[in-house]
Amino acid sequence: MIEVLNLNYCYRIYPDASQEKELLDWLEICRCVYNYALAERKEWINSRKCQVNACSLHYEYIIPADQPFPDYYKQKKALSQAKKQYPELKQVQSQVLQEVMGRLDKAFNFFWKRSFGFPRFKKSGQLRSMNFPQFKENPITGAQIKLPKIGGVLINLHRPIPDGFIVKQVQVVKKASGWYAVICLQSDVKIPSTKPQGNSLGIDLGLEKFIATSQGELIARPKFFGELQSKLKWLQRRLSKKQKGSKNRLKAIQKVARLHEHIYNTRKNFHYQVAHHLCAQAQIIFAEDLNLKAMSRGMLCKHTLDAGFGGFLEVLKHVAWKRDVYFEKVDANFTSQICPNCGVVTGKKELSQRVHECFNCGFVTDRDVAAAMVVEQRGLAALGLGVKLPVEEEVIEDTPKKVSRADRRNRKAS
Ligand SMILES: [Zn+2]
Repeated sequence: MIEVLNLNYCYRIYPDASQEKELLDWLEICRCVYNYALAERKEWINSRKCQVNACSLHYEYIIPADQPFPDYYKQKKALSQAKKQYPELKQVQSQVLQEVMGRLDKAFNFFWKRSFGFPRFKKSGQLRSMNFPQFKENPITGAQIKLPKIGGVLINLHRPIPDGFIVKQVQVVKKASGWYAVICLQSDVKIPSTKPQGNSLGIDLGLEKFIATSQGELIARPKFFGELQSKLKWLQRRLSKKQKGSKNRLKAIQKVARLHEHIYNTRKNFHYQVAHHLCAQAQIIFAEDLNLKAMSRGMLCKHTLDAGFGGFLEVLKHVAWKRDVYFEKVDANFTSQICPNCGVVTGKKELSQRVHECFNCGFVTDRDVAAAMVVEQRGLAALGLGVKLPVEEEVIEDTPKKVSRADRRNRKAS
């Protein structure tokens, strides 16, 4: 199997004063365009809610019945018309502006297909990134990155662009600590992916524990995340008491933004550590495909699944590629309802039920470990490597302390 590989590398950039002003202007224009396009879609949707025979006072925007929904292509096309009317739109590079429409479209798709919330208007300063979707030639020369219309911006290439990769897209992000460029790299040659061979490992992502592996290891979420979250709450409460428009409020906003960034960095760091830890154990790793899993679950926790785990799987994929570990996602449906030892369907478990206990073969293990084992078996079966032999009773004794302690506690409880 061969595939094209995508990598995202994030670098700090240092625009000078005039470039920074230009970038801030662009962000503001993009925000206005975003809000305008969202309002257009919203009005169309609201006009369809209004009954024909009862003219509602709430929906006074009467849009003709035959007018089609302003989708991505229509809105993108309307941009060139809007430019004639509002010349300030021309300040922004046209592709960057088109990307804003794509972004809104994505938000709507998440709303429709993955039951995210209805897209919201962005307040001042809430749109923090812009996408440059296309580059004819390599924009990075020496210590500079050349952005269309902006010109050469100083960049800190703290790690080199790997050989055989070209710059596909550049996302410019304004964070609390400064400006960053997230560079999307694509391999220009097709790289043969790693052949699946050697030890295999299945992992289950959970809400209670971060990860359970088919080897019986449970990796908990680090405690400091909870501490950081409470610190964040405290700062946000303080912020809410500050007077609007005051200098102290601005300072408080800065503090909250910096903490958000710190949490993001800490989480990413943790993800990399776990990914390396897993890749050191096995040559083949299987994980659940979250897109399928999110659909199989209720409204609850979908955001958690997407935000935390999606990011982790991306990291894991990257680390696995770097370390020549074969990585594949498998169907996650019903992984917690099957006995990994004998394959019997044991039925749905309540969230509170932490132990898997098979009525058929008597196999007992942690609930998430059982799910991870099923994931591993599915992955191996999909590769045609056959299902691993059923786990013997002794193996449970060999599992790391964490599990046996949990088991003991569970036994005591029951
Ligand atoms: Zn069983």
